[in-house]
Amino acid sequence: MFLRDLLDKMAAVDLANSASVINTDVVEGEKAVGTMSEDLQRLYVVYLETAKALKPECAKLDVEVGSIVNKPKSECTPEEITLMQEHVLAHDRVDRIGEIFWHELSEEIPETVGYSRGVRKGWQVVRYIPKNPRSVVPSGIIIAMPLGLGPVL
Ligand SMILES: [Zn+2]
Repeated sequence: MFLRDLLDKMAAVDLANSASVINTDVVEGEKAVGTMSEDLQRLYVVYLETAKALKPECAKLDVEVGSIVNKPKSECTPEEITLMQEHVLAHDRVDRIGEIFWHELSEEIPETVGYSRGVRKGWQVVRYIPKNPRSVVPSGIIIAMPLGLGPVL
């Protein structure tokens, strides 16, 4: 089960060796509003690792999967359908972990709600008002989908 797997992956994170995954300093215009709990740190590491693990697969598959998605289902082989389903599911997994992370961040540090947020060195959480306000979109609105995967979602 996805949730159980997520909790297991969080428990397996070696936090002592994970601090260096975030080396971005707080910059002008950002306000540090808190430090993430260890649970949130673990979730963030799993989020980054899951997204990173998908990248090479994407480089290999996105064009192929995109062409499968755009074909009528009746012309797809069972193998193509399976390939497309597994790849869409992998993207969905990353998206769901990200959504859970940002939600948990809001629960833990409510001062960030309504702002753009970021994670900085030392597990600091910052909030800021983006330079381009059009980039602020209420959560729940899909602004980008994996290449060519729109019709299946
Ligand atoms: Zn992909």
